[in-house]
Amino acid sequence: MKKTVRDIEVKGKKALVRCDFNVPMQDGKITDDIRITSALPTIKYLIENGARVILMSHMGRPKGEAKMEYTLKPVAERLAELLGQEVIFSSVPEVVNQQVIDTAASLKDGQVMLLENVRFRGEETKNEAGFAKELAQLGDLFVNDAFGTAHRAHCSTAGVADYLPAVSGFLIEKEVKFLGDALENPERPFVAIMGGAKVGDKIPVIENLLKKVDTLIIGGGMSYTFFKAMGLEIGTSILDEESIELAGELLKKAEAAGVNMILPTDVVCAKEFDNNSEKLTCERTEIPADRMGMDIGPKTIERIRGELSKAKTVVWNGPMGVFEMPNFAEGTKQVGAALAESDAATIIGGGDSAAAVEQFGYADKMTHISTGGGASLEFLEGKVLPGIAVLEEKE
Ligand code: ADP
Ligand code: MG
Repeated sequence: MKKTVRDIEVKGKKALVRCDFNVPMQDGKITDDIRITSALPTIKYLIENGARVILMSHMGRPKGEAKMEYTLKPVAERLAELLGQEVIFSSVPEVVNQQVIDTAASLKDGQVMLLENVRFRGEETKNEAGFAKELAQLGDLFVNDAFGTAHRAHCSTAGVADYLPAVSGFLIEKEVKFLGDALENPERPFVAIMGGAKVGDKIPVIENLLKKVDTLIIGGGMSYTFFKAMGLEIGTSILDEESIELAGELLKKAEAAGVNMILPTDVVCAKEFDNNSEKLTCERTEIPADRMGMDIGPKTIERIRGELSKAKTVVWNGPMGVFEMPNFAEGTKQVGAALAESDAATIIGGGDSAAAVEQFGYADKMTHISTGGGASLEFLEGKVLPGIAVLEEKE
């Protein structure tokens, strides 16, 4: 278990906090502030317990240049509104200079400042010691609360921990608890549902999950690569040519591990990748040469619902079909509904899966929706995330 802000004395300390304020922006305005509101519990805890709070984050990909369209100033303003107190914004393009050092040193207990976008410095993403030291000298301790970048070893996510005591904030604590418990200590039956389009990226995840789950359900665009590995004809369905062999090996591994592997038995096809294209529901063995699979079929939905009704822990990554098109959203919607009704621990990882759950109105029925797309995938893959590895262990 990693130490959190609760496990150390923060009163009067300068807490250098890495947040994920990489919010979507349009015309200089924040279009969705969920990442800012998600960071509030940690920031408020620090304020209430008398810390001097120095926040840092990246936004977008300014690639080491001070491109002002990526300034964090709008974040400072929104955060001040949400906290109901001043947030001192240091609009210094080099992120750290003497003025910033002086401001940080003069903070009083409970005051908050936000540094400029750490990716204005090219050293940030290379985790160069020089910039990590510059950042570290501002604080007395490091708090990492940015799960979305925890899979990257950058100055502000990992490097600073070489110079400061390092603990997690509440967001990372929550992610590690839910994802970690599911993997290490799941209540069984433990079911994983994998879908979406990026088979190549997800094969390592499937490989790791095979060692842990009782049942593995595969749906969405990745099914067709598995069908191909089984020798089926898949028409014009999405295919990851390079992953066919690995998919075949995974099928064998699943069998050897005694995992109940469920692939769609029927699919909903279309001639074009278009919501208005004529729908055809067929067995997976009968996909016409000129059609592509767009969703799982009704029999498959029933089968999956049956499995999910018995599950006690479910991890879901990747939609069951092209859910952005209403005519091909049924499979994804039904899986969401099954999870919403279930009393199992339900954990959603992946940007599009989270968006789907949100879109269908099931978000507040899930146990945990991970905030980090890439980071949650690497976690499920069993990798050690650098931004978490640097944090101190509880005694
Ligand atoms: P996540 O972000 O949840 O990890 P992915 O990014 O891997 O998921 O995949 C999401 C995308 O997969 C969605 O845009 C969805 O439209 C697409 N998809 C799902 N099923 C199919 C399919 N049968 N054919 C083509 N694309 C699909
Ligand atoms: Mg995605």
